[in-house]
Amino acid sequence: MARLTFYGGVNEIGGNKILLEEGGRRLFLDFGFPYKRHKLFYEEYLKPRSGAGLLDPMAMGLLPPLEGIYREDLETPGLWERFRDNSLYRKLERVDGVLLTHAHLDHSGYISFLKADIPVYSTAVTAFIAKAIQDSGRSGLEQQVCYFSPATWGPPEDWKQPALFSKSKVKQQRQFCIADKSLETLSADALQFWASGFWEKATRQRELISCPLNPHSGCSLNLLCFPVDHSIPGACAWGIETSSGWIIYSGDLRLHGKRAALTKKFIEEAARLHPSALILEGTNVSREANITEREVYENALKAIAKAKSLVIADFYARDVDRLLTFLQIARDTNRKLAILPKDAYLLKTMRLLEPEIPDIARDSNLVIYQDTIAKVDLWVRNICKECDSKIVLAEDVGSAQDKFILCFSFLDINELPSIRPKPGSLYVFSSSEPHDEEQEIDFRRLHEWLEYFGIKAFGLPVESNGEWSTPDEEKGLHASGHACGPDLLSVVHGIKPKILIPVHSEEPEFYSEHLRGNGTEVRLPKVGGMVEV
Ligand SMILES: [Zn+2]
Repeated sequence: MARLTFYGGVNEIGGNKILLEEGGRRLFLDFGFPYKRHKLFYEEYLKPRSGAGLLDPMAMGLLPPLEGIYREDLETPGLWERFRDNSLYRKLERVDGVLLTHAHLDHSGYISFLKADIPVYSTAVTAFIAKAIQDSGRSGLEQQVCYFSPATWGPPEDWKQPALFSKSKVKQQRQFCIADKSLETLSADALQFWASGFWEKATRQRELISCPLNPHSGCSLNLLCFPVDHSIPGACAWGIETSSGWIIYSGDLRLHGKRAALTKKFIEEAARLHPSALILEGTNVSREANITEREVYENALKAIAKAKSLVIADFYARDVDRLLTFLQIARDTNRKLAILPKDAYLLKTMRLLEPEIPDIARDSNLVIYQDTIAKVDLWVRNICKECDSKIVLAEDVGSAQDKFILCFSFLDINELPSIRPKPGSLYVFSSSEPHDEEQEIDFRRLHEWLEYFGIKAFGLPVESNGEWSTPDEEKGLHASGHACGPDLLSVVHGIKPKILIPVHSEEPEFYSEHLRGNGTEVRLPKVGGMVEV
């Protein structure tokens, strides 16, 4: 009998951490960062103390107290004595791996806390994007998905209170097992990037392992990796063969994106396994229909073609499909798409695996916008040096505003005093509506910025009587990463599992209501609760 225990992703969107056990074998299905619960206690300037290691996330109920799976360098003295009476406490002798579905932090973030020798199974693209995000991102404890510098416990200089801190420059790298490709198919440049990065000298880091995914390969359960379509490249679903039959885990998926064919193929192949259980996401269960990426292209093109001055496009940073949509619009409207160095780093990384991704140095419609920063990281300096002829500054954009589409998010809007947008400038909002009060405050600020600089907003949700919604005539600028309700039901009808377990949803009851008398039994998981298959 296979047992599933749900440590995250229950009645919440994100934070998936599902333990699958059979006999002595154990796998985690994702090990994500729980955004929603984290926001209950923390904000940008109030964070779990990095010097307290595992204590803070565990004490605040963000990380399950499972002794034996976490980095020992993050244990504070007496940590486990404190949690042994916790209802979720367990000691796990061994974990065979994490099956990672994609590189969004709500699925991957808390891998940072796991022991480095627990292997992470993923697609090559997911592994590489996870590394690109870490290389070019912040350096907090929750961003150490691919590598970390081990911490030591002790009092810092002139201080009595001991804390965890990293002195060592040596990086330890996590073991990633590539499930969808054999390593021989990766280029020397790709392997070099993984081992040491694009420019840095090689540090002591673990090699990738090619994982042919069969029971003889050293991984203890028979696994299948199914590529699917989501708002980040490289996403996959997983199949795990147990003595109670196949268990399928969807990760996040959609049927309306550019790579919808992948999700359709997944449904067909999973159906052929006659699975005992399907663990399925339900982010957008209440949505009736989807906007497609093609519609986003058409709607955004219509608006941008009319713009007389600067265009700013706001979309999710890792949504490469959306970036390519706006690149096409830049070509169609005779503008240049100005991306930030971190986007350039992501594209450079993706090109190692997908040569059809444009080369910044050669693509005449792509440039890199150098923002005003006081301290330039080495990777930023290197990528800019490499694309030296493609650098634009605020004054370049300011003096030829009708020639650019700037890829900015709200957090980049403080560049506007240098750019000085002219009348007729347009802010195209190609992302989702605010989900909580904090985001609502940011949206109010964004409206203030745009009004102050006389920029017209297009597709940006507006507030009326406490409700946020996009004006009807400006809808259709964002294709969600998640399937709508009818599409999710078609996934269930297509795969026909005996048991359906909804995760990553605030309305999991949707499935019980819509699948009654259907031959599929819906089981709603509880936090820390177990489902036997
Ligand atoms: Zn996701």
